[in-house]
Amino acid sequence: MRTVAVTKIGSLRDPDDQTRGRIGVVDFPDQPLGPEDVRIRVAYSAICGSDPHLAEGFFGTDVPIGLGHELSGVVEALGERAHRTGLSIGDRVAGNFLRFCGTCTPCRTGRQQFCEHIQDYNRPGMAETVTWHESQVYRLPDSVSLLQGCLLEPTSVAVRIADKTNIRVGDRVAICGGGPIGQLALQVMRMNGATSLTLIEPIAERRAMAQRHGAQHVIDPITESQAVRAGEITDGRGFDVVIDASGSSRAVRGLLDIAAQGATVIYGAMYPHDFEMPLNLSDYLYLKELTLTGLFVSPYAFPRALQILPHLDLAELTQAVFDLEDAPEAFAVHVSGRYPKVILRCNDIVDEGAIA
Ligand SMILES: [Zn+2]
Ligand SMILES: [Zn+2]
Repeated sequence: MRTVAVTKIGSLRDPDDQTRGRIGVVDFPDQPLGPEDVRIRVAYSAICGSDPHLAEGFFGTDVPIGLGHELSGVVEALGERAHRTGLSIGDRVAGNFLRFCGTCTPCRTGRQQFCEHIQDYNRPGMAETVTWHESQVYRLPDSVSLLQGCLLEPTSVAVRIADKTNIRVGDRVAICGGGPIGQLALQVMRMNGATSLTLIEPIAERRAMAQRHGAQHVIDPITESQAVRAGEITDGRGFDVVIDASGSSRAVRGLLDIAAQGATVIYGAMYPHDFEMPLNLSDYLYLKELTLTGLFVSPYAFPRALQILPHLDLAELTQAVFDLEDAPEAFAVHVSGRYPKVILRCNDIVDEGAIA
């Protein structure tokens, strides 16, 4: 089965062709269809900001490493006992690349994200088909196209970010980083009653995109003083909720200074293994009572992500589409930052369910 994979470990941004990481399309063995499994013919599979980290060997260095966890498609086969979610052959679906076993101690204590068997069904989805446990699969609403549906997983991350903010209607909110997660979090925070909604982002096109989707203010951290602008926007009080969706080690420290007294700061990205951020406990935790948190994956968020998906504006996140065989070029475009999101078309599937 044709599958997109990391075929050589290394940074995809490395200018030296000899040491640069490499993406290829290789043949992987078919995934087994267990009795409770669903085989999905993949329509679209999006490139994630985490994929270049995988190319650098973040989760291991044995190549080839199959990629793809943001996907949509059509049900092609069902195991003989895969009937509890009411799925039928031909259904348009998306889902969670992780299966929570439901039986281990974390799963039984409401913390699925720490499931001890979480990787069992983590199969590469930038492929012709993917086979998941039925508990991972969700039928798409009629009004959501297959192309939009591949954004269910990143939307679930934005929902989980919102969960961790404990936002109250009227809270002032700043988001650092205008990539897909930052842009989706912006739309979700607006739904949650965010005010003074601000995007901090060095790329002008991404700031403009955020303004089209409800950002009231934007800050260019390269040419402007982030602290001064934050003070102007919030009457000197700072933001009640600050979200990092940039993963930039240069950006993260300054977010503590634009947070208001009692604010919540979410570090909602992947950071380099060896990166450590200095933190003055007296200033930020004692005097300012900040709550600092992060997130790993998005437990309990998929059903709600499915509910809001029809209400999000996804047009600008679905404009760059490449065929599966052109994956190396698609990754080069992703790394260039030319588009906020790059998507692979894994099969040519006529989207019969979507209501335009
Ligand atoms: Zn992702
Ligand atoms: Zn578990």
